[in-house]
Amino acid sequence: MYRRMAAHQGPWDMIVIGGGATGAGIAVDAAARGYELLLLEQNDFGKGTSSRSTKLVHGGVRYLEQGNLSLVMEALKERGLLLQNAPHLVRNLAFVVPAYDWWESPFYGVGLKLYNLLAGKYGFGDSRILSREETLEKLPTINPEGLRGGVVYYDGQFDDARLLIDLLQTAGGLGATLLNYAQVTALDGHTVRVRDHIAGREFEAAGKVLINATGAFTDDVRRLAEPRSEAIIAPSQGVHLVFDRSFLASDHAIMVPHTSDGRVMFAIPWHGHTVVGTTDTPVPAAELEPVAMEQEVEFILQTASLYLARKPERSDVLSVFAGIRPLVREGGAGNTAALSRGHTIRLEPGGMMTICGGKWTTYRRMSEDGVNQAAILAGLPPVACVTASLRIQPPEPGDALLRAVRDEMAETVEDVLARRTRTLFLNAREALAQAPAVAKRMAVELNRDTDWEAQQVAAFRKVAGGYLLAP
Ligand SMILES: Cc1cc2nc3c(=O)[nH]c(=O)nc-3n(C[C@H](O)[C@H](O)[C@H](O)COP(=O)(O)OP(=O)(O)OC[C@H]3O[C@@H](n4cnc5c(N)ncnc54)[C@H](O)[C@@H]3O)c2cc1C
Repeated sequence: MYRRMAAHQGPWDMIVIGGGATGAGIAVDAAARGYELLLLEQNDFGKGTSSRSTKLVHGGVRYLEQGNLSLVMEALKERGLLLQNAPHLVRNLAFVVPAYDWWESPFYGVGLKLYNLLAGKYGFGDSRILSREETLEKLPTINPEGLRGGVVYYDGQFDDARLLIDLLQTAGGLGATLLNYAQVTALDGHTVRVRDHIAGREFEAAGKVLINATGAFTDDVRRLAEPRSEAIIAPSQGVHLVFDRSFLASDHAIMVPHTSDGRVMFAIPWHGHTVVGTTDTPVPAAELEPVAMEQEVEFILQTASLYLARKPERSDVLSVFAGIRPLVREGGAGNTAALSRGHTIRLEPGGMMTICGGKWTTYRRMSEDGVNQAAILAGLPPVACVTASLRIQPPEPGDALLRAVRDEMAETVEDVLARRTRTLFLNAREALAQAPAVAKRMAVELNRDTDWEAQQVAAFRKVAGGYLLAP
């Protein structure tokens, strides 16, 4: 990537700030159209929200309840396209909505029929009302007390950080220049000042258009251009707890449409574990390594214990991870659960384009809209978008650590254990145990000394501490 940078002459067609789902999607789209693109990520790719999602490729049953049919239809279509373009990463997952009240099965049965109808030719399977026996068969660990039956429906599941890395591999293969640990620290018109944390140097780069794709950090970057910019993001934190597989012991997920505070909660089988979440807690500002709040952890444990026969305890939690939703404010609404999940594109004073909001599922559509707008702003010749049918590159088989370091730009122990593999997200203690050996192997590959190894292990311990629950 440094060689590509050095060989590049003149301004880039597009410079993207931010290496999450939005930035990576734009990189693939722009590179596939033949535009020259530079992507700059301040930390590791996916360090922000894009590795911390519920890992669902979904239309969003909640938005259906809110009556936002166009958003649901768009997301269901994108779900179908992602399954077609990344079949190695997206799988069809059956969800069961358990019914404990007489009205729940018919009510959710009708709603979920509509959900499948809205998917049209992109449908993942027909929803169906289940008897009590069928529900218990599909969810052997569900709380049987008062259970009347349920409704089964189908949605998509993926590995968020893996899709991100594969998107970047695809973009790189199409000619995009992608740098992690490259933080934009200042803006001057169409020029960015960049601190390269790996090479320990600063440089400048100019683009025909700058694209701010920094998710929950959107306002920070907007304020580099115009310090008095009003905030447009209402950051909201979501937490997940990870347990052993035995808590669900099924290939089916549980979907609870209404928790005690009116939210949706999932218990999902993922990489041989059970992931339960999420919360929706407004927070004052975005952080790179957000930490779960005590009340969020308690809320998830309590809600899970209502639906699972074996009540999970704090000591059962293998990992806890938090992410920040980049929700776009609408007229200062106070409750972030009601804010739009649709995406927003805006032109900032000075000419930078900001693209934010949306969700993982719609990253491709969001990127298509973003590149269309950016090409106009940059005065580039229009080229049609091709990503609706563009295959996303599967990773080469082989040793995951060597691939991460040699091909996927992993620079730290955390990059390997959190985002090239998902060990930290699945089991923080296991990740801590692996850290010294990972550091040793990385040091050989990267030609680093034992001081580097020690410093890497220490830095990883600090981060991993946030994924462990205090007893
Ligand atoms: C708890 C939770 C659950 C979710 N579940 C789902 C789900 O199941 N399905 C779904 O479809 N969506 C889900 N989402 C939404 C989805 O994860 C997000 O919409 C998406 O990841 C946002 O991607 P992004 O690229 O806009 O932001 P991010 O992933 O946050 O990327 C922005 C990047 O910009 C970088 N950056 C910031 N400032 C600078 C700078 N100055 N210079 C360079 N780089 C910078 C950051 O380091 C960061 O990596 C969920 C979100 C949350 C929080």
